[in-house]
This record gives sequence, C-alpha cells and structure tokens, in this order.
Amino acid sequence: MKKFSRRTEDFICEHCGTKVTGNGYTNHCPNCLWSKHVDINPGDRAADCGGLMKPEAVELKNGEYTIIHRCTKCGHTRRNKTSTDDNFEEILNLSKSMIHRL
Ligand SMILES: [Zn+2]
Ligand SMILES: [Zn+2]
Repeated sequence: MKKFSRRTEDFICEHCGTKVTGNGYTNHCPNCLWSKHVDINPGDRAADCGGLMKPEAVELKNGEYTIIHRCTKCGHTRRNKTSTDDNFEEILNLSKSMIHRL
C-alpha cells in the first residue's frame, strides 16, 4: 500500500523563531510566511536543498491567496496555498509591496 505523504511534525521557523504546530499541510511559517525547501512534491520531504524559501509574491484567485516562495539557496520557486492560520497582515503587506513594484 502506498503511504500517504502527509506529515504532522512541528517545527521551529528558521526565519523568525516561531514554533509552528504542524497540521500536515503546514509548509510555511504562519507568522512570517517563510518556508523551507524540503519537498519536491508537497509533503514528500524529498528535496536535499533545505534552503529557506522567501515569500516573494502573492496571488489572489477565486478568493484564495497563494504565496509564491523562492528558495534563497537554489532559486527554486513554488506556489503554496495560504491557510486560515496565516498572518493575514503579512499576506496583505506582500501584495502591497508587489503593487509598488509594478
Ligand atoms: Zn517565521
Ligand atoms: Zn532550494
């Protein structure tokens, strides 16, 4: 039987030091929104990189926010859905800073 790759581990955010309680879908810090390059496919923890992933941009589609993360080590980008636990002010700041860049 194929094992589902959902994991529920807790982690300490390496960017801001927040203790994050994993719910199996958490792949970024709800406080500062930074992530870590540990997955090739979501949840598989198969990437060797381990670099911190900076939230670079945010997209709003069908009322859902998606964060675009870029790895500070290898430059890999990934889209991550936001969760209801996420710091909404940070998400708004991110979308505001994008508008300034246009
Ligand atoms: Zn953080
Ligand atoms: Zn990376």
